Amino acid sequence: MILPQYDSRCGWYEQLDQVSDFPALNGDRQVDLVVIGGGFVGCAAARRMAENRPDAKVLLLEALKIGQGASGRNSGFVIDQPHKRDLESGNEALKQKIVRLNRVAVEYLETQIEHFGIDCQWSHAGKYQAAVGPRGRKHLDHYEQLLQQGGEAYQRLSREEMRSVFGTDFYSAAIHTPGGALMQPAALMRGLADSMPDNVEIAENTAVTSIKRTRDGFELMAGRAHIRCRQLILGTNIFTAELGYMADRILPIMTFASMTAPLTDEQLRRYGGRLDWGITPADHAGTTLRMTQDRRLIVRNSYRYAHDYNTPQALIPQVSARHRKAFDERYPQLSDVAFEYTWGGASGLSGNFETYFGELESNIFASCCDQSVGAARGTISGMMLADMACGRRSDLLCDMQNVSGCPSRLPPKPLLRIGVPMRLAMARFASRSEV
Ligand SMILES: Cc1cc2nc3c(=O)[nH]c(=O)nc-3n(C[C@H](O)[C@H](O)[C@H](O)COP(=O)(O)OP(=O)(O)OC[C@H]3O[C@@H](n4cnc5c(N)ncnc54)[C@H](O)[C@@H]3O)c2cc1C
Repeated sequence: MILPQYDSRCGWYEQLDQVSDFPALNGDRQVDLVVIGGGFVGCAAARRMAENRPDAKVLLLEALKIGQGASGRNSGFVIDQPHKRDLESGNEALKQKIVRLNRVAVEYLETQIEHFGIDCQWSHAGKYQAAVGPRGRKHLDHYEQLLQQGGEAYQRLSREEMRSVFGTDFYSAAIHTPGGALMQPAALMRGLADSMPDNVEIAENTAVTSIKRTRDGFELMAGRAHIRCRQLILGTNIFTAELGYMADRILPIMTFASMTAPLTDEQLRRYGGRLDWGITPADHAGTTLRMTQDRRLIVRNSYRYAHDYNTPQALIPQVSARHRKAFDERYPQLSDVAFEYTWGGASGLSGNFETYFGELESNIFASCCDQSVGAARGTISGMMLADMACGRRSDLLCDMQNVSGCPSRLPPKPLLRIGVPMRLAMARFASRSEV
């Protein structure tokens, strides 16, 4: 069985000053609900269940420390617009449901951030989508059409505006959408863990290694702990298959990011742009770029089929060199600014781009294959899984079920190990102008 590992390279997590301790579980426990996985799905599910049923005992188990998994190592966009494929689906009703669900997730996160004073660089900076060459501009024009069709607010930027925000002339066109938020993901995840309601017990460094169904619920083994519960929510994303569910349906794809040290005053002058913005590439195989509130630039690109789920350290220098090239092309004036961190993280895709949400078997609920937009989608999924487990019906839950589906069965792993890298290499070649 493959379990999550932490590689000590994620810049977001490594920057945290103080990290609270939720000790590993030992001995026997009997609770109402166990949530496995402390990412966006798991944290939202545990909190929502505790809010729905203040009398219930909820146990949240995380194999690592909360914030070390994919939810703490992403690019920090909490998007409101649907994922590219959904946006292109032509089904306006479906798009509107996704936007509404994502916006509920943004609001839910924001309520907690404000209420508990979670310090995670949360901002309403919206999102830029930008193009470099003709290929990117074609994608961007199509995106603009789709935004118009959906009646969504957006703004096209002039060359001067792009220069003054991004500090570079590298991009030829960009669109800003005002919805969604930016954040420091590891700080957000720690804040969410630290502010859990009293009836949620968290155990970190506690990996579940077996799930057995009993007459009145489940028995779980996790290290030296033995747990009984009536209901189970799996927020384990790509690792769900390792627990025996959704095998052959989750495609674990890793992507990588590099982060600079905070720019000095003098480097900031040479940079010449603003703080606190994020660009996603118009052509999805391109480069994501962020400038944080604390003056760090972040580059994300490159994909890998993560058959082993975790980041192979031997790959880091190669990926970091690719990030360096993307950085130097954008910021030749900052050639002296080094990357402080480079890391990888895997998220779950599916062969047919469907996201799974629902009851896998009686009293086991799960959400996975969020197509790498899990900050919003994972949060709303976790909330709705908890509602489902409590038998609470709502329009939101119906919408959630409507926008989800069944990930298709994937080819056998040996074929994936040949086919997926080839597809990724072809996409990288086709989109080389945008990287
Ligand atoms: C570099 C990068 C950039 C990204 N950028 C963005 C972005 O800007 N915006 C966005 O929305 N998404 C982004 N994503 C994707 C996003 O991070 C994921 O979609 C999201 O984290 C999925 O959340 P989750 O809760 O489903 O799963 P995860 O975050 O993967 O959480 C699952 C948790 O389960 C734990 N676990 C697994 N197995 C066990 C077990 N047996 N026992 C106990 N615990 C277990 C894991 O340790 C993990 O913490 C990015 C991803 C990467 C890697």
